[in-house]
Amino acid sequence: MRILYATSEARPLIKTGGLADVSGALPVALRAIGLDCRLLLPGYPAVLAGVDAVKPVCTLNELPGGRVATLLEAAMPDNGVPLYILDAPELFQREGGPYQDVAGHDHPDNALRFAVFSKAAALLASSEFSKNAPLAWRPDILHCNDWQTGLAPAYLRLAGETTATVMTVHNLAYQGIFPPADLITVGLPPESFAVEGVEYYGNLSFLKAGLYYADRLTTVSPTYAEEIRQPALGMGMQGLLAARGDDLVGILNGIDSGEWNPSSDHHLPCKFSSRALIGKKHCKLKLQQDLNLEPSHDTPLFGIIARLAQQKGLDLILAVADGILHRGGQIALLGTGEKALEVAFRDLCAQHPGRVAAVIGYDEGLSHRIEAGSDLFLMPSRFEPCGLNQLYSLRYGTVPIVHATGGLQDTVEDGVTGFVFHEPTPHALWLAIERALHTYTDAKAWQRMMRAGMKRDFSWEKSAREYEALYQKLVG
Ligand code: ADP
Repeated sequence: MRILYATSEARPLIKTGGLADVSGALPVALRAIGLDCRLLLPGYPAVLAGVDAVKPVCTLNELPGGRVATLLEAAMPDNGVPLYILDAPELFQREGGPYQDVAGHDHPDNALRFAVFSKAAALLASSEFSKNAPLAWRPDILHCNDWQTGLAPAYLRLAGETTATVMTVHNLAYQGIFPPADLITVGLPPESFAVEGVEYYGNLSFLKAGLYYADRLTTVSPTYAEEIRQPALGMGMQGLLAARGDDLVGILNGIDSGEWNPSSDHHLPCKFSSRALIGKKHCKLKLQQDLNLEPSHDTPLFGIIARLAQQKGLDLILAVADGILHRGGQIALLGTGEKALEVAFRDLCAQHPGRVAAVIGYDEGLSHRIEAGSDLFLMPSRFEPCGLNQLYSLRYGTVPIVHATGGLQDTVEDGVTGFVFHEPTPHALWLAIERALHTYTDAKAWQRMMRAGMKRDFSWEKSAREYEALYQKLVG
């Protein structure tokens, strides 16, 4: 079975969040069970710089805005997953991130950029294209991810193509919303601008297009798949998602267990495992030194790694920070995002030297060292489609404290592998922290909990099998 996995980011080439982790790992797991899965990525500078032996395949002409792009063939570094790159320099080769410029503003032509990308994915999956193109490979399934690829199922269906499509929602909060005038930019017919189509409260939504036109919908945990059918977390899409309930499933993300393995992690000053936990103590001391925290074995160290966004419930952490410090705890935060949160954590750090560290930035190595060196991990997200850091925490013997939502609820077992609270309020979070601190004072009970988490299996193979079953159903 051939799958084209269209995504706007994939580790290790380009990453802004969890989508890149999934896109970097799931194709590898699908190939390991015998599926011919290939990636399609935009030709950002980091992508072009990160691959060797790039071969031009063909020119794509029928793209929105009269754009022309070159399809390049390469392979993902490290694992060799076949990779197609959409090279359109005026759209993708620019400074800043994949979606925003260096100042943090959305690129003004994002509608066109990701319409072009979606159309390219649709073309590669269409029978008409494969009749004439030099690329003989044609997927049985086009697997789209998030709003950046949401128009692809629309282009395919509106062209009368029957290739099966899957749309995965990694985070329903990002909907690719553009003014109605962009319907012309993206080259969709006026009749598609309807409730039964791409229209969303008077605007055009790329995500809605995918949710409406794709054959099957998935999201990244069973609980989130239920939550998004309800008004509270449906973000305005709940009606459509409830109506398409039979086509919507939640498949839990795995983690890249080669990359996130405390017994072989090259980012760590010292390795450890559930049988030999001593190395974790060294990781903690080294982390304290590196972050200018007072070195101490016994102090409970709370780690936080997150995009600094409203979703992540960081305001709840700020509300209980004094309580944590009062109880002798330390806090190590790594994150970047909303300025107000960056300032709030910087201030907290300035007020409590030696007790709070706030590294504002993006640092992959440090994220591994915080996972390894912390005792507890705070993840009070208001909603969380799957969440990866709680999984990394479990693997690294760092006991997670999480809000019972989405993938957090599906992966952390209260009182066994972590602590779960049910209301996204400072009070509920604080009660969970108190329970955790109480257990922390009992070294044996704490180690039991660490080991229980470390033994949980969150490898990709199980999830890959679930995707395979979904694909099988679609292609008969
Ligand atoms: P989301 O996709 O909503 O940001 P996830 O928990 O699903 O949240 O995935 C976040 C990923 O990004 C994880 O791999 C996490 O370690 C990483 N990450 C987030 N912020 C940072 C940062 N400042 N530095 C390094 N890695 C980060």
